[in-house]
Amino acid sequence: MRKQYDGIGMTSQRTRDRLVQRLKDKGISNPAVLEVMRKTPRHLFVDEALSSRAYEDTALPIGYGQTISQPYIVARMTEEIMKGNPKTVLEVGTGSGYQAAILAQLVEKVFTVERIDPLLRQVRQRLRSLGLHNVQLKHSDGSIGWASKGPFDAILLTAAPEQIPTALLEQLADGGRMVAPIGSAREQRLAVITRRGNVCEQENLELVSFVPLLGGLG
Ligand code: SAM
Repeated sequence: MRKQYDGIGMTSQRTRDRLVQRLKDKGISNPAVLEVMRKTPRHLFVDEALSSRAYEDTALPIGYGQTISQPYIVARMTEEIMKGNPKTVLEVGTGSGYQAAILAQLVEKVFTVERIDPLLRQVRQRLRSLGLHNVQLKHSDGSIGWASKGPFDAILLTAAPEQIPTALLEQLADGGRMVAPIGSAREQRLAVITRRGNVCEQENLELVSFVPLLGGLG
């Protein structure tokens, strides 16, 4: 089921179209992903003082030492996730809620976990005001996943572990896809992990730069 949401608001259509063109130039080709990136009001996911920069293809600070990810990376990870046609997705690292909002318009149900409670409270409000009601949020250590809601068709990590926590692999459905940055605090590589029974296949993509996954298993 695809959520309908017309988020075209205060910012100009042209600014958003420019961002989408940039995503296409960088290789994003899934039309549903591009359309959701175009219509989601990213300026509502950052502080008002930064809203004029919201449609630049760059990460921006969201407080508490955290960032909203670069739009290209959000689109790239979403495109990889969507290749598996998932119905349920677990996101680890809610942050501003932008990635969760993108996913919520493409899949049936999104579960997202964040360790910084004030961020999560802002996200709850944001998603409600955008009419996105298919996202469940939890204040918790995402390195242990959300076992009671799994297994998930897809899992997306927006903070980087040095190794994928076993708990997360266990919560990935058979045939499911996980997209995650893996590596040290300084540099990571984006990876797609596909679970086939008890075997996980890993495909490595480009170098990326995420905040580290903290917590017990991160
Ligand atoms: N997806 C976010 C967005 O769209 O704005 C960006 C996420 S930001 C790059 C990474 C987030 O992961 C931060 O908000 C951070 O607090 C969170 N994080 C780091 N370790 C975590 C953990 N063990 N459990 C839950 N959240 C974690």
